[in-house]
Amino acid sequence: MCGIVGAVARDNVVPVLLEGLLRLEYRGYDSAGLVVSNNSLHRLRTTGRVAELIKLVGEQNAEGLAGIAHTRWATHGAPSERNAHPHISGTESQIAVVHNGIIENHEAMRKRLQADGYVFVSDTDTEVIAHLVDYHLKQTADLFKAVCLSIAELQGAYAIGVMEEVRPDRIVVARNGAPLLLGLGDDGNYAASDASVKPGKS
Ligand code: GLU
Repeated sequence: MCGIVGAVARDNVVPVLLEGLLRLEYRGYDSAGLVVSNNSLHRLRTTGRVAELIKLVGEQNAEGLAGIAHTRWATHGAPSERNAHPHISGTESQIAVVHNGIIENHEAMRKRLQADGYVFVSDTDTEVIAHLVDYHLKQTADLFKAVCLSIAELQGAYAIGVMEEVRPDRIVVARNGAPLLLGLGDDGNYAASDASVKPGKS
């Protein structure tokens, strides 16, 4: 069981994302990653502990007013940086996805998306979601609609967080049979896999 933390706030969300991941560590994981948006997507991934991700964030000065973060428990594809989340799709403009759970119909979806020209760079079921959202985003030009159309085609249990390069002020989340809690506040809105992730002071 892995974990997801997402945040959109008035201040840099990276500290909240990292603190959230630390609090989800007890659930177990084999890799960790995050993406933050500041008019372009900045992705960091590691097969190390969350402490390693914290080090990378410091080295690369990653910050943004919105972000999604993830600890992975591999079900499809070995634990590796290439398979770690977030997964990215998009040509002109990028989108990023974190996912907890399993997409049962990922093989059929992968074939269909490959036929549409999508190139897969990981072995995960999750990358199907990224390309599917990108596919629908091209038709609808709206991330929320694109995620709704995508999840209508997905079978399995999932919690997902999605964000796009061109709208650095929002994330879209969805769940089906996997936990994802929302916290709405004056300073920001948050999503997390369980209630132990509480923004602010402990
Ligand atoms: N099935 C996805 C993967 O293998 C997500 C696993 C998870 O819940 O962390 O990457």
